[in-house]
Amino acid sequence: MLNFDFYNPTHISFGKGCIAKLDGFVPAEAQVMVLYGGQSAQRTGTLDEVQAALGERKVYLFGGVEANPTYEKLMEAVQIAREQNIDFLLAVGGGSVIDGAKFVAAAVPYPDDPWNILLNGGRDIKQALPIGTVLTLAATGSEMNNGSVITRKSLQAKLPFHNDLVFPKFSMLDPSKSFTLPERQVANGVVDAFVHVMEQYLTYPVNAPVQDRFSEGLLQTLIEQGPLALSQPDDYEVRANLMWVATLALNGLIGSGVPQDWSTHLIGHEFTALYGLDHAQTLAIILPSMLQERRVAKREKLLQYAERVWNLRDGDAEQRIDAAIARTREFFETLGVKTRLNDYGLAQDAVEAALQQLEQHGMLQLGEHKDIDLAISRRVLEASL
Ligand code: NAP
Ligand code: FE
Repeated sequence: MLNFDFYNPTHISFGKGCIAKLDGFVPAEAQVMVLYGGQSAQRTGTLDEVQAALGERKVYLFGGVEANPTYEKLMEAVQIAREQNIDFLLAVGGGSVIDGAKFVAAAVPYPDDPWNILLNGGRDIKQALPIGTVLTLAATGSEMNNGSVITRKSLQAKLPFHNDLVFPKFSMLDPSKSFTLPERQVANGVVDAFVHVMEQYLTYPVNAPVQDRFSEGLLQTLIEQGPLALSQPDDYEVRANLMWVATLALNGLIGSGVPQDWSTHLIGHEFTALYGLDHAQTLAIILPSMLQERRVAKREKLLQYAERVWNLRDGDAEQRIDAAIARTREFFETLGVKTRLNDYGLAQDAVEAALQQLEQHGMLQLGEHKDIDLAISRRVLEASL
């Protein structure tokens, strides 16, 4: 096992009706900005529930945070938060609203041009407003981690930042809030959580069986519960398990003491920035061809994945690796998430555009060995067509 620091200060309140407990979590004197997305929080009544729970507190509503939240929109919130002396942010939504709130939290007291938060990957954040979240979509783990991904439309750039100061103080996880999700978002959430686990599990062995077993358990749970969430959309227990899996997939626990990859995410971000593909769609496209390309470097873990996650024991090692990659692709397809660039109307020119963006964003040493350069990214992308 590698050396590590594990720190996670987010208080999780989980279960049906937990939003009512907000009153005990948000400071009584707080000037709160409630951030939310397009319409779902209003349409489903979640926003009303949140406002009722906040009682007499002074609340400023900031709606319209987009899926793949933009710097342009969030800077409006930063300006208002500064003018209104906002001292607490409450994100009501999925990963996009939560990521957006993290950016606003860091940008409000930031002394410099806030785009530098992204250019510096969050390393120079010295202060941030406190954040709480009410999660409505199980997918990103943003409700219990210190990461955020922000898009600057004018530059077609989608960049991540990390800083412990933007960990949510608390997150309210009510699985029944996810009943109103369209199928596409349920499926996207399963794929995103699955790929989060894979980015931390499918690297090379470091003698960390406890971490491997956590990851394999999460992957098997997603394989079992993901399709059930689509076939039994009213099943609370299924939604509850999925919500908790997605949180555990990216809250620092399974990534402690092991190498991490993240190349699929970083390449995928370029396709969202350029063509507006859903985050999970980009992952479903890249991961199978990335595993194929890295089958030598990842050989031992691929064989372990084949056996322990997919129960593949027949055939020689190469056949088992092929079968595990094929099962991964099939799993995404079964959920209704397509796995080829062509399925989204993208062709060779999109590959060239993404490679240019990767170069421009300095994404030239990706993966657990930092050896995925543009030539390898090109092979992965051409194999993804
Ligand atoms: P999302 O972008 O937050 O939400 C997708 C859509 O779902 C929105 O259109 C939203 O509609 C709708 N929605 C949300 N909750 C709903 C509900 N309960 N009922 C009906 N519709 C609902 O999706 P996400 O997958 O959670 O977040 C994706 C973003 O997170 C990407 O930008 C991705 O890069 C990022 N990400 C972050 C991390 C991290 O660790 N921070 C990790 C992975 C990915 P409305 O707009 O109308 O509300
Ligand atoms: Fe993700």
